[in-house]
Amino acid sequence: MGPQRGDLLKKELNLYTFRDLLELFPYRYIDKSVICPIRDITPHTDFIQVAGVLSDVELLGERRGRRLTATLKDDTGALELVWFQGISWVQKSLQEGRRYIVYGRTGIFNGVFQMAHPEMELLTPENAAGQDYLEPVYPSTEKLKSRGLGGRALGKFTQALLGQLQPADLPECLPDPLMTRFRLMPRYLACRAIHFPRSEEEGKQALRRLKFEELFLSQVRICRLKSRRHLQSRGWIFEKVGPCFNAFYEHHLPFTLTGAQKRVLKEIRQDTLGGRQMNRLLQGDVGSGKTLVALLCMLLAVDNGFQACLMAPTEILAQQHLESIGALLRELPIRIALLTGAVKGKERKTILAQVKSGELHMLIGTHALLEEGVVFHNLGLAIVDEQHRFGVAQRARLWKKNTVPPHILVMTATPIPRTLAMTLYGDLDVSIMDELPPGRQPIATVHRSEHQRPSVMDFIKDEIREGRQAYIVYPLIHESEKLDYENLMTGYENVKAYFPEPRYLISMVHGRQTSEVRETNMQRFVRGECQIMVATTVIEVGVNVPNATVMVIESAERFGLSQLHQLRGRVGRGGDKSYCVLMTGNKLSRESRQRIQVMVQSGNGFVIAEKDMELRGPGDIEGTRQSGLLDFKLADIVRDRVMLEAAREAAEALLQTDPELQLPENEGLLRFLLSRGHQTAWSRIS
Ligand code: ADP
Ligand code: MG
Repeated sequence: MGPQRGDLLKKELNLYTFRDLLELFPYRYIDKSVICPIRDITPHTDFIQVAGVLSDVELLGERRGRRLTATLKDDTGALELVWFQGISWVQKSLQEGRRYIVYGRTGIFNGVFQMAHPEMELLTPENAAGQDYLEPVYPSTEKLKSRGLGGRALGKFTQALLGQLQPADLPECLPDPLMTRFRLMPRYLACRAIHFPRSEEEGKQALRRLKFEELFLSQVRICRLKSRRHLQSRGWIFEKVGPCFNAFYEHHLPFTLTGAQKRVLKEIRQDTLGGRQMNRLLQGDVGSGKTLVALLCMLLAVDNGFQACLMAPTEILAQQHLESIGALLRELPIRIALLTGAVKGKERKTILAQVKSGELHMLIGTHALLEEGVVFHNLGLAIVDEQHRFGVAQRARLWKKNTVPPHILVMTATPIPRTLAMTLYGDLDVSIMDELPPGRQPIATVHRSEHQRPSVMDFIKDEIREGRQAYIVYPLIHESEKLDYENLMTGYENVKAYFPEPRYLISMVHGRQTSEVRETNMQRFVRGECQIMVATTVIEVGVNVPNATVMVIESAERFGLSQLHQLRGRVGRGGDKSYCVLMTGNKLSRESRQRIQVMVQSGNGFVIAEKDMELRGPGDIEGTRQSGLLDFKLADIVRDRVMLEAAREAAEALLQTDPELQLPENEGLLRFLLSRGHQTAWSRIS
C-alpha cells in the first residue's frame, strides 16, 4: 500500500500497525462457498453467486441514462448484468464468450432479474468450486471507499498479512487450563478464522474465543489492581471508635439504623482496621440512607485524628449535604465547610488554609475538591457521592491527597447493573444496601396519557386537601434547552390554571434561575409554604421533603430509567402513601412503552438498573461512555454478560493461586499483558 492510502487509513480508521489491521474485525461475511443455478433467483434473493458464459455486452441509453448491459447464461437460465458507472473501463475488461463467476445483489427491473455492478472473475479450476472460506466485510468510510479501500478491499490486505504470519507471531495468551475448560480456539487460529472462517461455525468459535480473551484480560487487569491493594497497599488505621462517633450515635442519631446500614458500617470498620487502604463501592437504592452511613464513617475518621471529605456531583447536592450534615453535627465540636466552584476569593482562601492546617475536620464539595490547590493536613477518608461515573484514573487523584492514600468510599446514586459494576468498579470491594428504612410504603406508580390529565390534576387536589405536597417535573435536555424551557413555562401556566391562587401556591425551580432564586423557591416548598413544586430535573438528587406524596413526571418517555427511579425516590420519604404518575403522549415507541412498564411494575432500583441496561445498552447509561472502560472491540457487556461473569470468576481464581503470574502456565499471559502496555499495573513484577 502506498503512503497516501496508508495515511488515509490512519486518519479514517486509526490503523497504524499490522496489529491494528488484524484487530479491525469484520462485521459480516459474504458466503461465496456455493455457486447457484441462475434459475434459483427469486424476487426474495438478496446477494447470490452464479457462474456462466458472458454475452451481449451492449452500451445503451444517452447521457444520464447511459448504461452497459450484458447477459450471463448458465444451463438453467439467463441473468442481466448492468453497470452505470466506470462504463468504459468495465467494457474494456469484459470478454464475451468466456465463463465468469459473478457475485452481487439481484433486483427486478422491467420484470427482468438484474444484477447491478456485480463482482466478476473469470472462472478457473481454482474458483470453480466456490471459495472455501467466508469473505469478510469490514467497516469503512466514504472517503476510503472512494480510494478503493472499501469494506471488502480491506480484506485483501488482511489476507496478505495473515499469509505472512506464523503461529509464533500470534502466541497464545490464555493459560492452558482455561483453554481446555472453556474449549477455546487457540489465538493464532482464532485471529485467522475471525477474518476468513471456513464455516459459519468456525467464525462463531473464533469470535467466542476473542471475546473471552478481551473480557478475561480486562478482568485480570481490574482484579490485579484489587489484589495488589489487598496484598500490598498501606492504609491508615482507624483504631478506635471515639467520642464524636459515640456522642453522635448515642445522642444525635435521629433514628435506629437499618440492618443494611449496620452491616455496611461493620464492613467499613473492618476495612479501616486492617492497615490496608479501603476502596469500597456502596451500592444502595434511592432512599436507603447512604448519607447517614457516609457521615458515621467521617466521624470515625475524625475520631482517629484524620480529616474527611465528601464529594457530590452538583453544587445543589453538595450544599444540601452540608446543610443536613451540618445540622446533625451542630452540637459536636466538629468544623465543617463547603468548597465548590462558586466559593471564591477570600472565603476560598480561608477554607483552603484551614484545610491545610487541619483546623477543618470535614470538607464537603464538588469536583473542586480534586484540584491541586486543595491540600489536606491529613486526609484519612474520601467519600464520592456520585452520579456520573468516575474511571479508575480519576479516583486515583484522590489517592494522592495524602502520603498514604486515604480510604475511599464510592456511593452510587441509584444501583447500577452487576456487569457494569464489574467493569467500571471491578477494582473495588462492594457493599450492598438493599433495605429501605422501616415504615416506607411502596410508591404506587401509574402511566397516564395526555387525555387523562384532568383526572391527574383532580387527584393532586385531593392530596393537597389532605395537607400533602406535589412535584411536577419537566425534562430538560441540553440539546433542546430552549424548547424545553418553553415547555416548562407553558406547563407552569397550565398548572396555574388548574390550581388558581390564592387557594393554591406554586413554586418553580429550573436551571436558568440564579442559585439564590432557586434556593429561595426550593425553601418555600421545603417549609411547606407552597403545595406544588414545578421543576426541571435540578431536583433530581438530594431534595428531601417528607410531606411530598405526589410526583408527576411530564414527558416521562424522555427520561432514562435510572433518572425516573431517582425522581420517583423524591416522594415516599415520610410515612404517607405516595404516588408517581408518568405522563406521556398518546403515541409511544415500543422501547419507551417497555421502559414505562418497568417503572410501573418495579420499585426496586436493582431490578430497574438491569432492565435499563438491557433496553438501552451500556453505552447509553449516563456517564459510562466517557469513562473509556467499556471500549471493547468485540464483547458487549449486555449481550455477553454470562461470558463476562465467567471471565471474572476465572480471573479471580487465577490471581488467587498465582497473584504475581509466576507459574509457567501463566507466562504467556504475563508476557502479553506487559507487551500491551499495561505496565502501570504490572511494572513492579518483571
Ligand atoms: P440515599 O441513600 O438515597 O442517599 P438518604 O441518605 O438521602 O438516601 O436518606 C433518605 C432518607 O431516609 C432521609 O430522609 C434520611 O434521613 C432517612 N433515613 C436514613 N436512614 C434512616 C433510618 N435508619 N431510619 C429512618 N430513616 C432513615
Ligand atoms: Mg443520596
